[in-house]
Amino acid sequence: MDELLNNYLVKHLPHTEDWVKDLEKQAKIDHVPIMDPIGINFLMQLIRLHKPHKILEIGSAIGYSALRMSEANPSSKITTIERDDNRFEQAVQNIKLLNKDNTIEIIHGDALEVLIELADNGDQYDCIFIDAAKGQYMRFFELSQPLLAENGLIVTDNVLFKGHVYDPNFEHPRHKKMVEKIRAYNEWLVNHPDYITTILPIGDGVAISVKKS
Ligand code: SAH
Ligand code: MG
Repeated sequence: MDELLNNYLVKHLPHTEDWVKDLEKQAKIDHVPIMDPIGINFLMQLIRLHKPHKILEIGSAIGYSALRMSEANPSSKITTIERDDNRFEQAVQNIKLLNKDNTIEIIHGDALEVLIELADNGDQYDCIFIDAAKGQYMRFFELSQPLLAENGLIVTDNVLFKGHVYDPNFEHPRHKKMVEKIRAYNEWLVNHPDYITTILPIGDGVAISVKKS
């Protein structure tokens, strides 16, 4: 994003409490890719507007986005999935420290398996936030479909991945495969017959998909 624009927007974000700054510092030190300030504030505003009773998050990391979504709408029940042992432990601790263990349930496991179990239980969510391994987005979305309640929305993060996704000249051996996968996901998503999707250049790129009625 334009640096001047970015600076301006960051300067005009809502005030954050100390615990938020602490978690942001923790993420920076440990190189955890939490949502950036503009992206998370947009997601929080969506949550305030949509007021989902139940939220499902794929990719908790240290619990930052789950805690911020809970801050935006404290009555939302949040289920969040994390497969990495260390991050899971950090998330459990952070959620407990902030007394959110009644509203945020964290599941330790691979979302590709956990999502199937949740669907078998007949669980339904009003908002599903996909923010895990970018190479698997299509699978996550497909496995999320039976879990989405009527009038629900699916939000996908990092769909523009550092701007590489829309750069036709992008060539980097390390990220090439992933960028191609995100491109394929975006094409598939915007052409999905059952959803209307809009991709926004917020944060690292956010796609909002709403089920057609
Ligand atoms: N949503 C977080 C950031 C998530 S970073 C925030 O903004 O605060 C992505 C996380 O997804 C990583 O911690 C990674 O371990 C986890 N992840 C990746 N693939 C996963 C999978 N298949 N199942 C569960 N978690 C996964
Ligand atoms: Mg992300």
